[in-house]
Amino acid sequence: MASTNKTTPRILVLGSLNMDLVSYVPHHPSPGETLTSTRFNVSGGGKGANQAVACAKLSRACPTNNNNTAPGGDVAAAAAAATVQMVGCVGDDSYGTALISNLSDRYGVDCTGVLRRSDLKTGVALIIVDEPTGQNRIILSPEANHAGMGPEETMDRLEDDLRGGGGGVDLLIMQLEIPLPTVLSALALAKDSRVPVLLNPAPAVPLPASALRGLDHLVVNETEAAILSGCDVSELDTEDGLRRVADRFIGSGVGNVVITLGERGVYYMSSSSPKHNNSGGAKMGLVAAEKVQKVVDTTAAGDTFVGQYALEVVTGQKKKDGDGDGGGVDVETAVRKANKAAAKTVQKLGAQDSIPWRDEL
Ligand code: ATP
Repeated sequence: MASTNKTTPRILVLGSLNMDLVSYVPHHPSPGETLTSTRFNVSGGGKGANQAVACAKLSRACPTNNNNTAPGGDVAAAAAAATVQMVGCVGDDSYGTALISNLSDRYGVDCTGVLRRSDLKTGVALIIVDEPTGQNRIILSPEANHAGMGPEETMDRLEDDLRGGGGGVDLLIMQLEIPLPTVLSALALAKDSRVPVLLNPAPAVPLPASALRGLDHLVVNETEAAILSGCDVSELDTEDGLRRVADRFIGSGVGNVVITLGERGVYYMSSSSPKHNNSGGAKMGLVAAEKVQKVVDTTAAGDTFVGQYALEVVTGQKKKDGDGDGGGVDVETAVRKANKAAAKTVQKLGAQDSIPWRDEL
């Protein structure tokens, strides 16, 4: 286990784990064409796993750096700002084994909540990247992420974690790569147990009004914002339009809305200011993206954003609960720090590999 104490915040990610099989090709194949790839890569993926990795890496210094504090580069022994736990499902196959050991051994994610089912296959994403344009074509086979993650298989496992009182979870993070009924049941359980939730509804589908009512943090990209709000994506081109759309989410009962805008940065709106912001701190605004020398690959930029934002949320919450100094979640600071972390990710190739450790920020 990670070297944490009872004041270390605990983040639980409920979501998908996939093995990504990536072929790089000179052009996308036509029907019937057999194409030889120029490169091939196998790596851990799935939005759930990527966000768990983001929380874990951004919460600790790289354990293999020379000046690290972890004996022998042991990631589990490295001091971490948060404990990160993954709840998901894989098959009892080589991909499942590799995904779990990758998450726990390389990144220090607690995977005791990842179920292995011998009757199911691990989820796989077949990704074809057209090298000249960088455009992806992706075939997603959810397998265990769907077949093993229905509410009946999942909710019992979440009960203890979310209703755990003092030892319980400080933030539940979810996406939509597992069955929607499970996400909706988990939202209801978290609300009932007073566990704050961050929902990153990707891939987006229209959600029932009950999903947004009382939701603490909604993090969406432009496409997701348009699908969920019913607006035209072009409405998000202007700051006025962003404010209107964010306001619609706040009107639906969301506490804090964050719309990530790729190279344009991020727009946020908060329905409540923390105490130390009452003297005029902004409750909404557009934060420009960090200037980067070269954008290499934007994969996992959104997941990195979620990871850093989540860490700011749980440390803010702990400060408020712990020392009564008027701390609390400062959404603007969370957004600015997450914007910086995500900018690091776009400068590196890959998904989980490109997410920075805390000492790389
Ligand atoms: P993905 O699905 O690839 O993880 P996303 O669509 O969920 O990404 P984006 O809105 O594309 O998310 O990007 C998330 C954040 O990453 C942005 O809000 C910004 O902070 C950062 N970012 C993305 N692209 C760039 C860029 N070109 N330069 C600097 N920062 C960037």
